[in-house]
Amino acid sequence: MSRLIIKGGLYFDGVHSPREGLALVIEGEKFERVIPATALPTETDARVIDASGCTVLPGLIDCHVHITSSGAADSSQERHDPDALLALRAAKNARIILNSGFTTVRNMGSRNQIDLSVKQAIDQGYILGPRVITSGMCITMTGGHGWMGGRQVDGVDEARKGTREQLRAGAEIIKIMATGGVMTPGVEPGSAQLTVEEMQAAVEEAHKAGRKTASHAQGTTGIKNAILAGIDSIEHGIFLDDEAIQLMLEHDVALVPTLVAPYHIVKGGIEAGIPAYAVDKANQVFEAHKQSFKKALQAGVTIAFGTDCGTPLNTPGRNALEFELMVEAGMTPLQALTAATSTAAKVCDRPEMGSLAAGKLADVTIVQGNVFDDVRLLQDQNNISYVIKGGAVVVKR
Ligand SMILES: [Zn+2]
Repeated sequence: MSRLIIKGGLYFDGVHSPREGLALVIEGEKFERVIPATALPTETDARVIDASGCTVLPGLIDCHVHITSSGAADSSQERHDPDALLALRAAKNARIILNSGFTTVRNMGSRNQIDLSVKQAIDQGYILGPRVITSGMCITMTGGHGWMGGRQVDGVDEARKGTREQLRAGAEIIKIMATGGVMTPGVEPGSAQLTVEEMQAAVEEAHKAGRKTASHAQGTTGIKNAILAGIDSIEHGIFLDDEAIQLMLEHDVALVPTLVAPYHIVKGGIEAGIPAYAVDKANQVFEAHKQSFKKALQAGVTIAFGTDCGTPLNTPGRNALEFELMVEAGMTPLQALTAATSTAAKVCDRPEMGSLAAGKLADVTIVQGNVFDDVRLLQDQNNISYVIKGGAVVVKR
C-alpha cells in the first residue's frame, strides 16, 4: 500500500485551533496516524511532502453545488441543453472544483439524475473530480422552484413516490423545495410551496432509507414548514425570524447559508447580463440574508459551508469566496473553516471525512500561507499547493 507523510506547516484538524509541529502518516486511503513531527522516523521509504509555510486542512467540503451548471450570467439557455451536454459540463466543473481545494461536494438537484452518473464517472476514474454526494432530482411542487429539472409532485402520495424514485436511483440526499427562489422566473423567494404534509412524506421516506434531507427554504413560513416536516438542513435560510431560529435549535437543524449566491447577482447586476427577474429578487433578499446569517450564528445554530455554485457568476472554482463572506458576516476564520470541514461532514452524514485524524479518509488541502490570518488565500488556485483525495495526490502545483 502506498504510504505518504506530510510534515511541516500549520495543521487544522477540522475541529480545534490550528497548531504546528504535527505530521500526518497516510496509509492507503486513510490517515494511519497523526503524530508529533519529532516522532517521525529519520529513515522512511514513504513519499514525504514538506508543507512548511503552508496551512494543512482537511479536504474542503461544499454542501451545496450545482455541478452541471456553468455559472453563466444568464443560464436560461442551459435549461434547454441536452443531458449529455450537462454531463460533459459537469466533468469540466468537477475538475475545476477539485483544483480549488474541494474534495467533496453535495450536489443539490440534478435534471434526470445526471449527478449520479457524474459521481460514477469520478469514482470509476473516467474523470477527475471531488467526491460527489448526490441528490438526483429535487422534489418540488408543480410549477415550483426548480421545476424545469425537478420531480414535480402534488399531494402526499406523489411526494412519497417522487422521493422513492430518487432513492431507487441511488440518491444520497433528498432535496425538497419548501419555498420559491431567485432563479426560477415567476416564483417568489418568500412564498411557501410544498406543504408540511408533502414534505413530511418525503422526509419520512428518506429517513427510512437512512438518508438525510435538505430544504431549499428562503421565506419564513416555508422554513418553519420544512423544520416541522423533520428536515435536516435549511439551505439559504434568507428570512429567519426568532421563532425559526428557535425551531432550528430545538430540532437540531443546520443552516447552509450560501451567502455568495445573491452576492454575485447583486454585484454583477443586469450590466453583467443577469436576467432582470433574478437581479430584482436578489436585491430584495441580500440584506435580509446577511442579517439572518448573523442571528443564526449568534444563536448557535449549526452552520455548514455551501455556495450554490453554478448560479449567475458563481462559477466553479470560486467556491472559496464564501469563506470571506462568512468572516465578513461575523464568523472567525476558525468557525468558517470548521463549517467547511467537520461540520460539513456532519451535515452531509459523512463522519469519515472532514477531519485530520487516524482512521478518517485522507482528504487534504494544502494552502500556501496561513489561512487563519487571511481566508482570502483560499480564493487563488495558485495558492493551493496540493490536493489529496483518499491518500492520492490529485493536484500538485
Ligand atoms: Zn441551489
